[in-house]
Amino acid sequence: MSQFLRPALAALDPYVPGEQPQDKSYIKLNTNENPYPPAPGVMEVITREAVSQLKLYSDPTIAPLKRAIAEQYGLMPENVFVTNGSDEALGFSFQAWADAEHPVTIPDISYGFYKVFAQLFQVSPKVIPLREDFTLPVEKFCGAGSMVVFANPNAPTGIALPLSEVEKIVASNPGHVVLVDEAYVDFGGESAVSLIGRYPNLLVVRTFSKSRSLAGARIGYAMGDPALIDDLERVRNSFHPYNINRLSMLAGVEAMKDTAYFEDCCKKIMATRQRTAEALKALGFTMTESSTNFLFAAPPALSGREYYEQLKDRGVLVRYFGGSRLSPYVRITIGSDEEMDVLLAKTREILKEAKA
Ligand SMILES: *Cc1c(COP(=O)(O)O)cnc(C)c1O
Repeated sequence: MSQFLRPALAALDPYVPGEQPQDKSYIKLNTNENPYPPAPGVMEVITREAVSQLKLYSDPTIAPLKRAIAEQYGLMPENVFVTNGSDEALGFSFQAWADAEHPVTIPDISYGFYKVFAQLFQVSPKVIPLREDFTLPVEKFCGAGSMVVFANPNAPTGIALPLSEVEKIVASNPGHVVLVDEAYVDFGGESAVSLIGRYPNLLVVRTFSKSRSLAGARIGYAMGDPALIDDLERVRNSFHPYNINRLSMLAGVEAMKDTAYFEDCCKKIMATRQRTAEALKALGFTMTESSTNFLFAAPPALSGREYYEQLKDRGVLVRYFGGSRLSPYVRITIGSDEEMDVLLAKTREILKEAKA
Protein backbone atom coordinates (compact mmCIF):
# COMPACT_ATOMS: atom_id res chain seq x y z
CA MET A 1 0.00 0.00 0.00
CA SER A 2 1.39 3.42 -0.88
CA GLN A 3 1.24 6.58 1.17
CA PHE A 4 -1.05 8.01 -1.52
CA LEU A 5 -3.98 5.62 -1.16
CA ARG A 6 -7.24 7.19 0.05
CA PRO A 7 -7.98 6.19 3.66
CA ALA A 8 -11.37 4.73 2.67
CA LEU A 9 -9.63 2.31 0.31
CA ALA A 10 -6.90 1.47 2.80
CA ALA A 11 -9.61 0.38 5.22
CA LEU A 12 -11.64 -1.85 2.92
CA ASP A 13 -11.39 -5.63 2.57
CA PRO A 14 -11.37 -6.46 -1.16
CA TYR A 15 -13.31 -9.46 -2.44
CA VAL A 16 -11.26 -12.65 -2.26
CA PRO A 17 -12.01 -14.85 -5.29
CA GLY A 18 -11.87 -18.63 -4.96
CA GLU A 19 -8.46 -20.11 -5.72
CA GLN A 20 -7.71 -20.14 -9.45
CA PRO A 21 -4.56 -22.28 -9.65
CA GLN A 22 -2.99 -21.84 -13.08
CA ASP A 23 -0.32 -24.56 -12.62
CA LYS A 24 -1.21 -27.81 -10.82
CA SER A 25 -4.30 -29.49 -12.23
CA TYR A 26 -6.98 -29.89 -9.59
CA ILE A 27 -10.49 -31.17 -9.91
CA LYS A 28 -11.94 -27.70 -9.57
CA LEU A 29 -15.15 -27.61 -7.59
CA ASN A 30 -14.56 -24.26 -5.89
CA THR A 31 -15.87 -21.41 -8.05
CA ASN A 32 -19.16 -22.70 -9.45
CA GLU A 33 -18.01 -22.89 -13.03
CA ASN A 34 -19.93 -25.12 -15.43
CA PRO A 35 -18.23 -28.46 -16.20
CA TYR A 36 -19.62 -28.43 -19.76
CA PRO A 37 -18.18 -26.33 -22.59
CA PRO A 38 -20.01 -23.31 -24.03
CA ALA A 39 -22.74 -23.94 -26.65
CA PRO A 40 -21.33 -25.34 -29.92
CA GLY A 41 -22.24 -22.12 -31.77
CA VAL A 42 -19.79 -20.21 -29.58
CA MET A 43 -16.85 -22.22 -30.95
CA GLU A 44 -18.07 -21.59 -34.53
CA VAL A 45 -18.45 -17.83 -34.18
CA ILE A 46 -14.95 -17.09 -32.83
CA THR A 47 -13.33 -17.18 -36.28
CA ARG A 48 -10.03 -15.74 -37.55
CA GLU A 49 -12.14 -13.01 -39.16
CA ALA A 50 -13.80 -12.20 -35.82
CA VAL A 51 -10.39 -12.05 -34.16
CA SER A 52 -9.02 -9.76 -36.89
CA GLN A 53 -11.87 -7.34 -36.15
CA LEU A 54 -10.43 -6.82 -32.65
CA LYS A 55 -8.55 -3.91 -34.19
CA LEU A 56 -11.87 -2.01 -34.07
CA TYR A 57 -13.68 -0.87 -30.94
CA SER A 58 -16.61 -2.99 -29.83
CA ASP A 59 -20.25 -1.88 -30.22
CA PRO A 60 -20.99 0.49 -27.31
CA THR A 61 -24.77 -0.10 -27.67
CA ILE A 62 -24.32 -3.89 -27.20
CA ALA A 63 -27.48 -4.11 -29.34
CA PRO A 64 -27.18 -7.68 -30.70
CA LEU A 65 -26.69 -9.15 -27.25
CA LYS A 66 -29.46 -7.02 -25.72
CA ARG A 67 -31.78 -8.26 -28.47
CA ALA A 68 -30.84 -11.90 -27.91
CA ILE A 69 -31.44 -11.61 -24.16
CA ALA A 70 -34.71 -9.68 -24.56
CA GLU A 71 -36.03 -12.27 -27.02
CA GLN A 72 -35.20 -15.10 -24.65
CA TYR A 73 -37.11 -13.58 -21.74
CA GLY A 74 -40.03 -11.95 -23.59
CA LEU A 75 -38.78 -8.42 -22.90
CA MET A 76 -37.78 -5.38 -24.99
CA PRO A 77 -34.11 -4.48 -25.50
CA GLU A 78 -34.92 -1.36 -23.41
CA ASN A 79 -35.43 -3.69 -20.44
CA VAL A 80 -31.90 -5.10 -20.73
CA PHE A 81 -28.50 -3.91 -19.52
CA VAL A 82 -25.28 -5.79 -20.32
CA THR A 83 -22.07 -5.76 -18.31
CA ASN A 84 -18.56 -7.20 -18.04
CA GLY A 85 -19.62 -9.99 -15.68
CA SER A 86 -22.57 -9.53 -13.38
CA ASP A 87 -20.22 -8.16 -10.72
CA GLU A 88 -20.08 -5.05 -12.87
CA ALA A 89 -23.91 -4.87 -12.95
CA LEU A 90 -23.89 -5.06 -9.15
CA GLY A 91 -21.22 -2.35 -8.93
CA PHE A 92 -23.05 -0.02 -11.32
CA SER A 93 -26.25 -0.58 -9.32
CA PHE A 94 -24.58 0.51 -6.09
CA GLN A 95 -23.22 3.57 -7.90
CA ALA A 96 -26.62 4.41 -9.39
CA TRP A 97 -28.82 4.06 -6.34
CA ALA A 98 -26.78 4.04 -3.12
CA ASP A 99 -24.37 6.36 -1.33
CA ALA A 100 -23.61 7.60 2.19
CA GLU A 101 -27.16 8.96 2.49
CA HIS A 102 -28.86 6.05 0.71
CA PRO A 103 -28.06 2.74 2.45
CA VAL A 104 -28.51 -0.80 1.19
CA THR A 105 -30.19 -3.66 3.05
CA ILE A 106 -28.43 -7.02 2.54
CA PRO A 107 -28.39 -10.46 4.23
CA ASP A 108 -25.41 -11.22 6.50
CA ILE A 109 -24.59 -14.46 4.69
CA SER A 110 -24.71 -13.96 0.94
CA TYR A 111 -22.49 -13.12 -2.01
CA GLY A 112 -19.37 -11.44 -0.57
CA PHE A 113 -19.29 -8.67 -3.15
CA TYR A 114 -22.32 -6.86 -1.68
CA LYS A 115 -20.35 -5.87 1.42
CA VAL A 116 -17.26 -5.02 -0.64
CA PHE A 117 -19.22 -2.69 -2.93
CA ALA A 118 -20.84 -1.07 0.10
CA GLN A 119 -17.36 -0.30 1.44
CA LEU A 120 -15.95 0.77 -1.93
CA PHE A 121 -18.78 3.21 -2.60
CA GLN A 122 -19.06 4.30 1.04
CA VAL A 123 -22.59 3.03 1.46
CA SER A 124 -23.61 1.94 4.93
CA PRO A 125 -25.08 -1.56 4.67
CA LYS A 126 -28.02 -2.59 6.84
CA VAL A 127 -27.10 -6.21 7.46
CA ILE A 128 -29.94 -8.64 8.28
CA PRO A 129 -28.97 -12.04 9.74
CA LEU A 130 -30.33 -15.15 8.03
CA ARG A 131 -32.43 -17.42 10.24
CA GLU A 132 -30.81 -20.32 12.11
CA ASP A 133 -31.65 -22.65 9.19
CA PHE A 134 -30.04 -20.17 6.72
CA THR A 135 -33.38 -19.12 5.21
CA LEU A 136 -34.03 -15.44 4.50
CA PRO A 137 -36.23 -13.65 7.07
CA VAL A 138 -38.51 -12.16 4.42
CA GLU A 139 -40.43 -9.93 6.83
CA LYS A 140 -37.23 -8.04 7.70
CA PHE A 141 -36.68 -7.15 4.04
CA CYS A 142 -40.26 -5.92 3.60
CA GLY A 143 -40.60 -2.14 3.93
CA ALA A 144 -36.82 -2.00 4.42
CA GLY A 145 -36.67 1.76 3.87
CA SER A 146 -33.64 1.43 1.60
CA MET A 147 -32.43 -0.26 -1.54
CA VAL A 148 -32.47 -4.05 -1.05
CA VAL A 149 -29.96 -6.50 -2.53
CA PHE A 150 -30.14 -10.27 -2.17
CA ALA A 151 -29.30 -13.37 -4.16
CA ASN A 152 -32.02 -15.87 -5.09
CA PRO A 153 -31.11 -18.69 -4.84
CA ASN A 154 -28.70 -17.51 -2.16
CA ALA A 155 -24.97 -18.22 -2.09
CA PRO A 156 -23.23 -19.99 -0.46
CA THR A 157 -26.29 -21.61 1.11
CA GLY A 158 -27.96 -22.68 -2.17
CA ILE A 159 -31.41 -22.01 -0.71
CA ALA A 160 -34.13 -20.59 -2.98
CA LEU A 161 -36.90 -18.23 -1.97
CA PRO A 162 -40.30 -18.86 -3.62
CA LEU A 163 -41.39 -16.21 -6.12
CA SER A 164 -44.34 -15.23 -3.91
CA GLU A 165 -41.88 -14.25 -1.14
CA VAL A 166 -39.67 -12.31 -3.55
CA GLU A 167 -42.77 -10.45 -4.72
CA LYS A 168 -43.61 -9.49 -1.12
CA ILE A 169 -40.20 -7.85 -0.78
CA VAL A 170 -40.51 -6.04 -4.13
CA ALA A 171 -44.10 -4.91 -3.52
CA SER A 172 -43.39 -3.63 0.00
CA ASN A 173 -40.49 -1.40 -1.10
CA PRO A 174 -42.05 0.73 -3.85
CA GLY A 175 -39.81 3.69 -3.01
CA HIS A 176 -36.55 1.76 -3.41
CA VAL A 177 -34.81 -0.49 -5.89
CA VAL A 178 -34.96 -4.19 -5.06
CA LEU A 179 -32.09 -6.01 -6.78
CA VAL A 180 -32.48 -9.79 -7.07
CA ASP A 181 -29.22 -11.49 -8.04
CA GLU A 182 -30.25 -14.59 -9.97
CA ALA A 183 -26.78 -15.96 -10.75
CA TYR A 184 -28.00 -19.51 -9.98
CA VAL A 185 -31.70 -19.36 -10.85
CA ASP A 186 -31.38 -21.68 -13.86
CA PHE A 187 -30.53 -24.61 -11.58
CA GLY A 188 -33.93 -24.81 -9.92
CA GLY A 189 -34.97 -21.37 -8.62
CA GLU A 190 -38.03 -19.35 -9.59
CA SER A 191 -37.13 -16.20 -11.54
CA ALA A 192 -38.57 -12.78 -10.76
CA VAL A 193 -38.35 -11.76 -14.45
CA SER A 194 -42.11 -12.34 -14.80
CA LEU A 195 -42.70 -9.48 -12.30
CA ILE A 196 -40.75 -6.85 -14.26
CA GLY A 197 -43.75 -5.31 -16.06
CA ARG A 198 -45.58 -4.78 -12.78
CA TYR A 199 -42.82 -3.40 -10.54
CA PRO A 200 -40.75 -0.42 -11.74
CA ASN A 201 -38.42 -0.88 -8.73
CA LEU A 202 -37.36 -4.45 -9.58
CA LEU A 203 -33.96 -5.22 -11.10
CA VAL A 204 -33.03 -8.84 -11.87
CA VAL A 205 -29.29 -9.47 -12.31
CA ARG A 206 -28.01 -12.53 -14.18
CA THR A 207 -24.72 -13.94 -15.42
CA PHE A 208 -23.40 -16.08 -18.29
CA SER A 209 -20.71 -17.40 -15.93
CA LYS A 210 -22.58 -20.32 -14.42
CA SER A 211 -25.49 -21.74 -16.42
CA ARG A 212 -24.18 -20.55 -19.83
CA SER A 213 -20.61 -21.92 -19.37
CA LEU A 214 -18.93 -18.57 -20.11
CA ALA A 215 -17.21 -17.55 -16.85
CA GLY A 216 -14.08 -16.57 -18.78
CA ALA A 217 -15.97 -14.38 -21.27
CA ARG A 218 -17.17 -12.07 -18.47
CA ILE A 219 -20.79 -11.33 -19.40
CA GLY A 220 -23.51 -10.32 -16.99
CA TYR A 221 -26.85 -8.63 -17.52
CA ALA A 222 -29.67 -6.94 -15.69
CA MET A 223 -33.35 -6.77 -16.57
CA GLY A 224 -35.87 -4.26 -15.33
CA ASP A 225 -37.99 -1.21 -16.07
CA PRO A 226 -36.53 0.96 -18.88
CA ALA A 227 -36.07 3.85 -16.42
CA LEU A 228 -33.82 1.69 -14.22
CA ILE A 229 -31.88 0.56 -17.29
CA ASP A 230 -31.46 4.25 -18.25
CA ASP A 231 -29.97 4.94 -14.81
CA LEU A 232 -27.49 2.11 -15.25
CA GLU A 233 -26.60 3.29 -18.77
CA ARG A 234 -25.76 6.70 -17.32
CA VAL A 235 -23.25 5.07 -15.00
CA ARG A 236 -21.83 2.77 -17.69
CA ASN A 237 -21.46 5.60 -20.20
CA SER A 238 -19.72 7.70 -17.56
CA PHE A 239 -17.26 4.93 -16.82
CA HIS A 240 -16.70 2.45 -19.65
CA PRO A 241 -18.98 2.46 -22.73
CA TYR A 242 -16.94 -0.35 -24.37
CA ASN A 243 -17.38 -2.74 -21.46
CA ILE A 244 -18.28 -5.72 -23.68
CA ASN A 245 -15.49 -6.83 -26.01
CA ARG A 246 -16.21 -8.08 -29.53
CA LEU A 247 -15.52 -11.77 -28.90
CA SER A 248 -17.61 -11.90 -25.75
CA MET A 249 -20.53 -10.28 -27.53
CA LEU A 250 -20.40 -12.90 -30.29
CA ALA A 251 -20.10 -15.70 -27.73
CA GLY A 252 -22.94 -14.32 -25.62
CA VAL A 253 -25.39 -14.14 -28.51
CA GLU A 254 -24.73 -17.76 -29.45
CA ALA A 255 -24.95 -18.99 -25.86
CA MET A 256 -28.24 -17.15 -25.32
CA LYS A 257 -29.82 -18.48 -28.53
CA ASP A 258 -29.08 -22.15 -27.93
CA THR A 259 -31.88 -22.96 -25.53
CA ALA A 260 -31.76 -26.72 -26.11
CA TYR A 261 -28.06 -26.98 -25.23
CA PHE A 262 -28.49 -24.70 -22.23
CA GLU A 263 -31.42 -26.68 -20.85
CA ASP A 264 -29.60 -29.95 -21.39
CA CYS A 265 -26.55 -28.74 -19.41
CA CYS A 266 -28.71 -27.46 -16.56
CA LYS A 267 -30.65 -30.74 -16.46
CA LYS A 268 -27.45 -32.80 -16.32
CA ILE A 269 -26.05 -30.65 -13.51
CA MET A 270 -29.26 -30.95 -11.49
CA ALA A 271 -29.25 -34.76 -11.91
CA THR A 272 -25.58 -34.92 -10.81
CA ARG A 273 -26.43 -32.67 -7.86
CA GLN A 274 -29.20 -35.01 -6.75
CA ARG A 275 -26.98 -38.08 -6.97
CA THR A 276 -24.05 -36.37 -5.18
CA ALA A 277 -26.28 -35.02 -2.41
CA GLU A 278 -27.71 -38.48 -1.74
CA ALA A 279 -24.25 -40.07 -1.65
CA LEU A 280 -22.90 -37.42 0.74
CA LYS A 281 -25.94 -37.70 3.01
CA ALA A 282 -25.42 -41.47 3.13
CA LEU A 283 -21.88 -40.72 4.39
CA GLY A 284 -23.29 -38.59 7.19
CA PHE A 285 -23.04 -35.09 5.71
CA THR A 286 -25.63 -32.48 6.61
CA MET A 287 -26.60 -29.97 3.95
CA THR A 288 -29.09 -27.36 2.87
CA GLU A 289 -31.59 -27.95 0.05
CA SER A 290 -29.74 -26.73 -3.05
CA SER A 291 -31.41 -24.96 -5.99
CA THR A 292 -27.99 -24.12 -7.45
CA ASN A 293 -24.97 -25.76 -9.10
CA PHE A 294 -23.32 -26.33 -5.74
CA LEU A 295 -23.90 -28.07 -2.42
CA PHE A 296 -23.43 -26.36 0.91
CA ALA A 297 -22.46 -29.32 3.03
CA ALA A 298 -20.93 -30.14 6.42
CA PRO A 299 -18.92 -33.37 6.80
CA PRO A 300 -19.29 -35.63 9.85
CA ALA A 301 -16.34 -35.84 12.29
CA LEU A 302 -14.26 -33.08 10.61
CA SER A 303 -14.48 -29.32 10.49
CA GLY A 304 -15.15 -27.63 7.17
CA ARG A 305 -11.56 -26.44 7.08
CA GLU A 306 -10.08 -29.90 7.73
CA TYR A 307 -12.23 -31.44 5.02
CA TYR A 308 -11.31 -28.66 2.58
CA GLU A 309 -7.59 -29.10 3.32
CA GLN A 310 -7.66 -32.87 3.04
CA LEU A 311 -9.53 -32.72 -0.25
CA LYS A 312 -7.00 -30.21 -1.54
CA ASP A 313 -4.11 -32.53 -0.57
CA ARG A 314 -5.85 -35.16 -2.69
CA GLY A 315 -6.24 -32.88 -5.70
CA VAL A 316 -9.85 -31.73 -5.25
CA LEU A 317 -10.58 -28.04 -4.66
CA VAL A 318 -13.76 -26.94 -2.90
CA ARG A 319 -14.53 -23.58 -1.28
CA TYR A 320 -14.21 -23.02 2.45
CA PHE A 321 -15.44 -19.70 3.85
CA GLY A 322 -15.02 -19.91 7.61
CA GLY A 323 -16.63 -17.56 10.10
CA SER A 324 -18.67 -18.76 13.05
CA ARG A 325 -21.80 -19.95 11.28
CA LEU A 326 -20.10 -21.23 8.13
CA SER A 327 -17.11 -23.04 9.66
CA PRO A 328 -18.70 -26.55 9.64
CA TYR A 329 -19.44 -26.22 5.91
CA VAL A 330 -17.78 -26.24 2.52
CA ARG A 331 -19.31 -25.25 -0.79
CA ILE A 332 -18.92 -27.93 -3.44
CA THR A 333 -19.53 -27.01 -7.07
CA ILE A 334 -21.37 -29.65 -9.10
CA GLY A 335 -18.94 -30.82 -11.76
CA SER A 336 -19.28 -33.67 -14.25
CA ASP A 337 -20.36 -37.11 -13.02
CA GLU A 338 -16.74 -38.30 -13.29
CA GLU A 339 -15.49 -35.40 -11.18
CA MET A 340 -18.11 -36.01 -8.52
CA ASP A 341 -17.15 -39.69 -8.41
CA VAL A 342 -13.57 -38.64 -7.59
CA LEU A 343 -14.87 -36.27 -4.90
CA LEU A 344 -16.92 -39.09 -3.37
CA ALA A 345 -14.01 -41.57 -3.47
CA LYS A 346 -11.62 -39.06 -1.83
CA THR A 347 -14.29 -38.21 0.74
CA ARG A 348 -14.68 -41.88 1.71
CA GLU A 349 -10.89 -42.10 2.18
CA ILE A 350 -10.85 -38.97 4.33
CA LEU A 351 -13.73 -40.14 6.53
CA LYS A 352 -12.15 -43.56 7.00
CA GLU A 353 -8.89 -41.93 8.16
CA ALA A 354 -10.76 -39.53 10.44
CA LYS A 355 -12.38 -42.47 12.21
CA ALA A 356 -9.18 -44.56 12.46
C1 LIG B 1 -20.81 -15.89 -9.52
C2 LIG B 1 -21.72 -14.87 -8.95
C3 LIG B 1 -21.82 -13.58 -9.48
C4 LIG B 1 -20.85 -12.98 -10.45
O1 LIG B 1 -20.61 -13.60 -11.55
P1 LIG B 1 -19.84 -12.92 -12.76
O2 LIG B 1 -18.87 -13.95 -13.15
O3 LIG B 1 -19.23 -11.62 -12.35
O4 LIG B 1 -20.93 -12.71 -13.75
C5 LIG B 1 -22.75 -12.72 -8.97
N1 LIG B 1 -23.56 -13.08 -7.96
C6 LIG B 1 -23.48 -14.29 -7.41
C7 LIG B 1 -24.39 -14.64 -6.29
C8 LIG B 1 -22.55 -15.21 -7.88
O5 LIG B 1 -22.44 -16.39 -7.29
